[in-house]
Order: sequence, then C-alpha cells, then structure tokens
Amino acid sequence: MTNLRFKVVEEAFKKKPIDVEAPSERPYEYFGKKVFGRSKMYKYLPKDIYKKMIDVMDNGAQLDREVADAVAEGMRKWAVEQGVTHYTHWFQPLTEGTAEKHDSFIEHDGKGGMVEDFSGKLLVQQEPDASSFPSGGIRSTFEARGYSAWDPTSPVFIMDDTLCIPTVFISYSGEALDYKAPLLRALHAVNVAATEVCHYFDPEVKKVTSNLGWEQEYFLVDEGLYSARPDLLLTGRTLMGHDSAKNQQMDDHYFGTIPDRVQAFMKDMEIQALELGIPCKTRHNEVAPNQFEVAPIFEDTNLAVDHNMLLMSLMKKVARKHGFRVLLHEKPFAGINGSGKHNNWSLSTDTGVLLHAPGKTPEQNLRFAVFIVETLMGVYRHNGLLKASIMSATNAHRLGANEAPPAIVSSFLGTQVSDLLDHIEKADKDDIFQMNGKQGLKMDIPEIPELLIDNTDRNRTSPFAFTGNRFEFRAVGSEANCASAMITLNAAVAEALVDFKARVDKKIAEYEGRPEFGEQTGHTAKFHAIIDVLREDIKTCKPIRFNGNGYSDEWVEEATRRGLDVEKSCPIIFERYLDPASIKLFESMGVMTEKELVARNEVKWETYTKKIQIEARVLGDLSMNHIIPVATRYQSQLLQNVENMAEVFPKEKAAKLSARNLKIIEEIAERTSKIETQVEELVNARKVANKITDEHEKAIAYHDTVEPKMDTIRYQIDKLELIVDDSCWPLPKYRELLFIR
Ligand code: ADP
Ligand code: MG
Repeated sequence: MTNLRFKVVEEAFKKKPIDVEAPSERPYEYFGKKVFGRSKMYKYLPKDIYKKMIDVMDNGAQLDREVADAVAEGMRKWAVEQGVTHYTHWFQPLTEGTAEKHDSFIEHDGKGGMVEDFSGKLLVQQEPDASSFPSGGIRSTFEARGYSAWDPTSPVFIMDDTLCIPTVFISYSGEALDYKAPLLRALHAVNVAATEVCHYFDPEVKKVTSNLGWEQEYFLVDEGLYSARPDLLLTGRTLMGHDSAKNQQMDDHYFGTIPDRVQAFMKDMEIQALELGIPCKTRHNEVAPNQFEVAPIFEDTNLAVDHNMLLMSLMKKVARKHGFRVLLHEKPFAGINGSGKHNNWSLSTDTGVLLHAPGKTPEQNLRFAVFIVETLMGVYRHNGLLKASIMSATNAHRLGANEAPPAIVSSFLGTQVSDLLDHIEKADKDDIFQMNGKQGLKMDIPEIPELLIDNTDRNRTSPFAFTGNRFEFRAVGSEANCASAMITLNAAVAEALVDFKARVDKKIAEYEGRPEFGEQTGHTAKFHAIIDVLREDIKTCKPIRFNGNGYSDEWVEEATRRGLDVEKSCPIIFERYLDPASIKLFESMGVMTEKELVARNEVKWETYTKKIQIEARVLGDLSMNHIIPVATRYQSQLLQNVENMAEVFPKEKAAKLSARNLKIIEEIAERTSKIETQVEELVNARKVANKITDEHEKAIAYHDTVEPKMDTIRYQIDKLELIVDDSCWPLPKYRELLFIR
C-alpha cells in the first residue's frame, strides 16, 4: 500500500518557485491600477460630477440619483476598458469573510439584442438574497430581505473580470448585518467627539480621522501536504501532530532569508495588492517556521479594514497559484507561535497627527496628553468589552492560553509618556505653570522631555501598547475582521472624549469669573478646567496602565485586584457585549442598538459552537478511521514478529528478544483503547450539548464539556505518532508541514 504522505512529501520537495514576471512599471506607477480612485474619477466623470463625488467622499455630502447615474456610467466605461464583464456588491457579513454575488452588465436592448448597461440604482443599492447569512434572528424567515448599499468612501476595484463595489449590508428594518455599517458609525462618532475636543486647542480643525495600520501574520503550507491533512482542510488547524524535534527554538526563522518559493509568492501577492491600491510595504519571516508577515502603510480605518479583507482573499488565491495554502488560523500548530494581527491605531486631524509626541507647542503637548489619557479612559472602562471584540473560538487558543497576548487588556505607555502623565497628575499647579517659563502663552504646560521613543522601550507582552505615534492593539486575531476591534475601540474613545468635554465645559462655566482661575493666574479658565479634568482621569484610569510582564501569574492576581477583566472562557467573554455599560456605549455613540447587539451575540455563540463541533467531529473521525487502524495494523505486524520469534528461538530467549515489541504492542493497545473511550465520551458530550436550545448556554457547554476532551484525545494520538512505524503514518508530520517550502 502506498502511503499518500510520502507521495506528497516527495512532490513538495521537488517544487520550484514559480516565475513571477516583474512589471515594466515602477510600483508607484501601477499602484491603484485596478481601483476607480480620484485620478480615474477625474478622467472618466464629467467635471461637475467629479466635484460632487469629492464632496460626497470628503464631507459626507448626500449622493443624489443623477450623480449616481453619471458615476455608474463612468465606472462602467473604465471597467469595460479593463476587460470587466461583471459587477458585484462586495460586503462583509458576520462570517469573518467577504461576500459577493456577480451580475453581468448585459441588459436587453428592447430590439431582441443585448447592450451593456450599469445604472446608478444598481451601483447604489441592491437586494442580495440574504437569507443564508448569519443574522442572529434579526431577519425572521418571512422577512428575509437584506440590502447592500454603496460606501462611496471606499473606492470600487477590479478583481479578475469583476467590478467590486464595497457596500454595507443591512436588514429590511435597518439593522446592521455586517461589520462595515457599525464601523462607519463608530468612525463618525470618534470624528465628531475628537473634533470638538480639538477645538479647545485649535478652532480650525475640521475633521478627525481614525487610522489603522495592520500587520498580518500567516503560515504557508505546501498544498500537497495540506491536502493530506483533513484537519487542516476542514478546520484550518492541526488537531493532532507531535512536536517537531526542531521548531522555533533556534530563533533562526525570524527575519531570516525568505525561501525562494515563498519569495515568489510574496512578490506576486504584493504586485497584485499594489494594483488594488493596498500599500504593502513590509514583508518578513515571523518567529515560527513557515510563518510570515505582511504589513501595508496605515490608512483611514474604513479603507484599511477593506484592504485587509481584500488582502486575505488575495493571499489565498495567489498562494494556490504557487502551490501553497495560506493558514490564517490563529493557532494552526500546537507548541509554536500562533498568528495575530497587530492593529496600529491612531487619530489624526486634517491639520496633523494627534498622538505624536512631542508636539511643537505647549498646546500640542497638552492636546497630546488629553488624547492619550482619554484613549486610556476608553480602554479602561471597556477593557472586558475590548477583549470580547477580539475573542473568537480560534483566537482563544492564543488569548490567555500558553502564548501572547494575555487575556487581560492593559496598556503599556513607555517610561517617557508614563513620566509625563505622572508629572501632570502630581505636580503642584503652580509648578506646572512655572516650569515652562514661557511667558505670554495662553496655554502652558511643563517642559515635556523630548520623547525619543526608543524601540527598546517596548513591552512585547502588552496587548495595547503606545509606540511613539500610535497605539498597537496586538491581541487581534489573524483571521478576524479588524472591524470588530476597531468598532469597539473607536466607540470607546469617542465616548471618553464626549464625557471629557462635558466635564471640562461644566468646569469652565464654574470657573469663569472666579479670580483663582482668572487672568491673574496667567491662564484661562479653560486651561484650568482641562488640567483639572485631565488629572482626575489620569487617576481614574491608572489600573489599565501596566508595564510589567503580561504573561506572569502574578499579573492575573494583580489585575484581579485592580478590577480588570480576567475571564478566559470565550463564550463568557462574549457576554461583555450585553453589559449595561456596553449597551450604553454603543447606543449613545449611535453605533449599535441593543437589538443589534443581542442578535450579534447570538451569531457569536452559534459560530463558536459550530467551530468546536466541526473540530470535534473531525478529530473523532480521524481517530477512528486514520489513527486507530494504522496503529492496529502496525501492532499486528509486531505481533506477527513476536510469533515468529517464538517459532525460531527457545521460549526464554524469544521472550527476551521480543520484550521491546511486546511493550509497544501493549502501549498501542492501551492508547488506542483510551482514544476509543474518549471519542465516545466526546460524542456523548456533544449530544448532551446539542440538546440545549439557548445558543449562549450551548456555547458554554461546548467550551466546558466538549473542548477539553479534544486535548486528551490529541495527547494519546501524539504519543502514538512517536511509536508507530513512520512508513505507515498517514498524516504529514509537523516536521514536514513546517519545514518543506
Ligand atoms: P512594527 O510594530 O513591527 O515595528 P512597523 O513599524 O512596520 O511595525 O509598523 C506597523 C504598522 O504601523 C504599519 O502599518 C505602519 O504604517 C503603521 N503605523 C505607523 N504609524 C502609524 C500611525 N500614526 N497610525 C497608525 N498606524 C501607523
Ligand atoms: Mg507592530
């Protein structure tokens, strides 16, 4: 019998890099080639329509039907020139992926022939048959309609022969059924709130933008090896597999030379990404073998989220061309690092960055301190919710498990910013005013030490670290839609800023006309009010600041004392979405209603259950029809050998010579029988859990009673892998999956 594993290993070894033709143009020339961006709008739209579109994109102006028709016509013209035949509304349902339904441009011409046509109506709104997308019960079956509506702030692009139109996806009654709709609302909220706070410092600020720069980690596995692993194929991760003798302990992969076949894949992917307007900049090997990272330059959060979704699909497509499969799962292999997606987040105004230190003037420095502290306030108040926003069945293997990041959201600021906040908090008010020594400035704060943010001043274990001009939310899952984290973070910061402003305004009213806050002090009442509220907040949010080792057990105890959320169970963490404080946050910021939150949680719990359910089934099947038969076959061979020995040698000598084999025969018997019983228990636990109708309770049952059983089965299988003859083992081993490229 030929072993499929050997065949795929041999083939994988022989594979050569695929030639990727270098484009004749420079990257800046083909950047955005497949995007209907501003320069194409200028070329393909009538001047007045172009102006109106810019107003729509930049200032959120209303898009009327006439403009939409003209834009659609321009788009179609451009697309047809590129060989496009179809169009689709492209949206992000609650499945972590994207969805599309392609229609061609052709229409009857009324004379028995066909014409190509694309109207503003089709561009702006469609009604995809939405009954098969998760909605958490919002769309009852009798009203299954869902609408997709164009998001003009994210440009349309071409994938293959199709014009893709980024859209939001909402129900007939207006509830969001996707990630984009609440994201746009959260971005609006933070823009409004932050712009108002900026006006304390600079009345000219018109707009605040939330920025996102993601770093995407992933694994590549040879396609042949992948196809011989039903667990990878069906669940995205290995459910079994003994450690490779060598894995990442030599630290020789991180930033190492990129293997040729991988390099060709990266080049191909990057060219296509640049054409799609995704500004890919960085690529490198990651810590684990066969693990890599790609990162573009940061963009406005809405566009960055779209680009991440787009890149994830592009990666999968390009990888197949190169004979690879991309693993985006957070923990495809036990015992080595998993993958995450750092979300670098910042706010900037139409006049400059907000989180950059040091500013040029005392006003800018005070503004910097306000935005840092109010971000911390948002993170502090909603630390449990932020954890929920990045939690999933797959990310649960990283968060709070054996590796980074911990399941406690805290923030690391670095010594300089920490010192600055400590100074603002503790310094005598007179000292604050005098330290700077600059006379005549209406707003004055102490000389802020020059912040040379040193790369060594980094805490790799912090889930939310300040890194010079941005916060890095590191705990986001590699497979996740970044929007989930960005909705919560931006909403939480918006709420903190609104609250800050309300208290400052109240204090200003209180202080005005009182000599101790008046001109005599050399400062305005406004300045006094800002400093006083800021000081309150620096004190309040202190528990979220943590500079120590986030992986230690002491931190869990300490965090508990500080009142931070230390829960580790994924289905229970999801409950944070329905806390009164969370509902208040999302409703008051106009991001999501309670009804939407309830529905989304149903989807979360259901998805969690299904993922564990599928894994449990696959593990059960593989145990029974791959592992046990192979182990038993090998055991029979050994038994045969023992019998042969007994025939050839005298009894005592035969027993001695067969001692090792007998031991293995016994071990196989014990382990296979344990696997069998445990698989039975696993099936029973599932049956019990499946009877529960409440999605929340069911997910908890899967977490508490089904999932733990999978680990014990895996333990036995991995032990068998070590003793069963390598030539019979059917599944590609870790050493093959991780080192062949
Ligand atoms: P690393 O954290 O590995 O040093 P990089 O320096 O390559 O990462 O940056 C990671 C990401 O952070 C990139 O996408 C980069 O564009 C983004 N980034 C840099 N500055 C900002 C900022 N002010 N706001 C948001 N993202 C930013
Ligand atoms: Mg980073």
